[in-house]
Amino acid sequence: SKKDPGQTHFKDTVTEVLKTVAPVLDQHPNYEQHKLLERMVEPERVVMFRVPWQDDKGEIQVNRGFRVQMSSAIGPYKGGLRFHPSVNLDILKFLAFEQVFKNALTGLPIGGAKGGSDFDPHGKSDNEVMHFCQSFMTELYRHIGPDVDVPAGDIGVGGREIGYLFGQYKRIRDSYDAGVLTGKRVDYWGSLARTEATGYGLLYFVKNMLDAKGIDLKGKTLVVSGAGNVAQYAIEKAQSFGAKVVTCSDSNGYVYDPDGIDLDAVKEIKQVRRGRIKEYVETHPKAEYHEGCKGVWTVKCDVALPCATQGEIDLDSAKALVANGVQAVGEGANMPSTLDAIAYFQEHKVLFAPAKAANAGGVAVSALEMAQNSERLQWTFEEVDAKLQGIMKNIYESAKKNAEKYADPDDLVSGANITAFSKVAEVMLAQGLV
Ligand code: NDP
Repeated sequence: SKKDPGQTHFKDTVTEVLKTVAPVLDQHPNYEQHKLLERMVEPERVVMFRVPWQDDKGEIQVNRGFRVQMSSAIGPYKGGLRFHPSVNLDILKFLAFEQVFKNALTGLPIGGAKGGSDFDPHGKSDNEVMHFCQSFMTELYRHIGPDVDVPAGDIGVGGREIGYLFGQYKRIRDSYDAGVLTGKRVDYWGSLARTEATGYGLLYFVKNMLDAKGIDLKGKTLVVSGAGNVAQYAIEKAQSFGAKVVTCSDSNGYVYDPDGIDLDAVKEIKQVRRGRIKEYVETHPKAEYHEGCKGVWTVKCDVALPCATQGEIDLDSAKALVANGVQAVGEGANMPSTLDAIAYFQEHKVLFAPAKAANAGGVAVSALEMAQNSERLQWTFEEVDAKLQGIMKNIYESAKKNAEKYADPDDLVSGANITAFSKVAEVMLAQGLV
């Protein structure tokens, strides 16, 4: 930790993983001998670069770009790009570290990475976003490729940004490598069901977890945070399972709709108008808007699905959820619950689906997009969705099996970490000192 002063997010995520894999380390003294832990916490490569661009007023702006290539043990580096003012090396190292294990859980041939910039897309014109993306890719292109490193979207990077990034990559490389980015639009070789995959996958995972306890999602009240890609499709699938979702949010505040969230209205606000979630109440008079996003966790529910960002459920929020009788929490965002919040849920026997397992559906379908790009074919929505369901079931079952073997039988945090860690560790051993 002396090497990384102040990297608290990274340290927290490493701590969380290392604490839970202790039983595996005890059984494999050779892991310590080969310094596997020390190797795993050191990224294989970190690239940081200047991103200069010109805004609509003709003023020069300078942002910082990053790509953290954490591990190529199991396949090409793979992980999203995040454009948000909070982006820094600490956040991206934590996300890249998580990504390595999440990707290992999918059972598909992908390593782990994360990247992005402190660029804030809010309030920027299409033209400004394009100029920024072109400048960002003018440096990033030399570090990525279909067999090297395959970025995708994340917070602030959706279909529009992926399009501008891909256009610039193609122009610089003078080569149509569709497999260099995932999350592309379907008309230029994106995968059907990729947009839906993280939110749908989260619900498939949570359903597996609840079914095992004989709990039916049908008729349950759900609280969802966020209103972006993950939140929208989590709401869609939850509703198709017969659950009632009563909230969604953005970084300004949350909406509570006692009739259940009208997803078409949310999609119209976020996807078409690129507006703020408070606009929802203009057309839904029974709904309430509350400033501040933390309050969402005080809404009574059976299942909570944090789908916005890291650290959004702290200990106080966890206490409020438990006091209101929450039965299960499924993490759609990356590390949305703080470590003390997770401990509180576990102490109070709340079923807990950890991010790296529960939200792995997005990257899993990204890997399927890579497979489709390699064979230059496109699969149907149903085909991809069926594979996604199978992958989420496998992830749940393998995490559950290792929870039963090494920890508390319901401790899916330990179960998922052990499954993923063991896989990465064995591959690293097999590949020698790299
Ligand atoms: P989007 O940019 O589409 O949406 C993010 C949502 O979260 C927005 O509603 C945004 O509100 C809100 N949000 C962002 N930052 C904050 C903050 N600091 N405080 C409160 N709310 C915030 O991103 P995604 O839906 O793609 O990603 C959401 C989470 O899911 C992230 O943690 C991401 O890493 C994770 N994830 C995403 C995957 C994917 O496939 N997209 C895959 C796996 C994980 P606002 O508009 O106000 O910024």
